[in-house]
Amino acid sequence: MYDTILIPTDGSEGALAAARHGLALATAFESRIHLLSVVDERTYSSSIADVDSTVREQRDAFEREATEAVRILEELADETSVACHTAVEHGVPHAVIASYLDRHDIDLVSMGTHGRTGLDRLLVGSVTERIVRTSDVPVLTTRPDADERGSYERVLIPTDGSEAAAAAVGHGLAVADRYDARVHALSVVDVSGLMGAPDVGMNPDVLDTWTEYGERAVSEVAGRAEDRGLDVTTAVEQGLPYRAIRDYTRQEDIDLVTMGTHGRTGLERYLLGSVTERVVRTIDVPVLTVR
Ligand code: ATP
Ligand code: MN
Repeated sequence: MYDTILIPTDGSEGALAAARHGLALATAFESRIHLLSVVDERTYSSSIADVDSTVREQRDAFEREATEAVRILEELADETSVACHTAVEHGVPHAVIASYLDRHDIDLVSMGTHGRTGLDRLLVGSVTERIVRTSDVPVLTTRPDADERGSYERVLIPTDGSEAAAAAVGHGLAVADRYDARVHALSVVDVSGLMGAPDVGMNPDVLDTWTEYGERAVSEVAGRAEDRGLDVTTAVEQGLPYRAIRDYTRQEDIDLVTMGTHGRTGLERYLLGSVTERVVRTIDVPVLTVR
């Protein structure tokens, strides 16, 4: 399923956490890994570097830093049985990572939610956000402070019944299958959204309708899990979706969340779906996002 996994690194704690999870996944799937660090060419002017020795020295210093970032993760990989390829390239990080995915036929990317510059920022780092939003292959994102887990025993698949959510189900089930994990399918009825809609008001019938819709969505996931012989738990809850997903993850001691980059309402939107963005940013366990 995942023959080749890419771990991009900027030498940060976030990349290190992502590397640990990426390596564990590579061990489980017997994948090869690629370690890539991109020297951001916007931090030096490449045309000036050709003629100006000071700028050239600066560029070389950045390149040594990138090489070191890759070397640290290579040492981690050496402690495992995973075969490892390393690369240092120059360019704009998200663009180089995106083209690397194509050039090397990568099946999955594992990266940090944050990198070197944005740790105290509220949002997901801009490089990761771009890759999650545009990549054709699934992206495993890990917070710098995420728990280290040797294996995944409980995999959560949140679903709003949309096609976008369904895209992630196959990947969630494949990972669960590989680890012999229990699948949890969760659908959250967004009560705040229901109350905000003027035409539905507080009509209890509307809540019933959405609850039934959620039950259909989770039983669809459960059916696919059972087809593969996996154990499943289903749940339909009310609340703010990202909070309910986060609370469920803690209560049920979930190890991994697999979800679509978009849901029912945001498909046309250019940005990442808001529930996914919040889950990726706030949850203590890795999240596998699928476009
Ligand atoms: P920002 O750069 O948007 O200010 P940030 O540095 O916190 O914020 P990102 O740059 O998106 O966040 O970093 C998140 C992850 O992206 C890192 O953990 C790493 O996996 C990857 N990454 C970031 N920059 C590079 C790079 N230059 N080369 C390779 N991987 C990178
Ligand atoms: Mn960065």
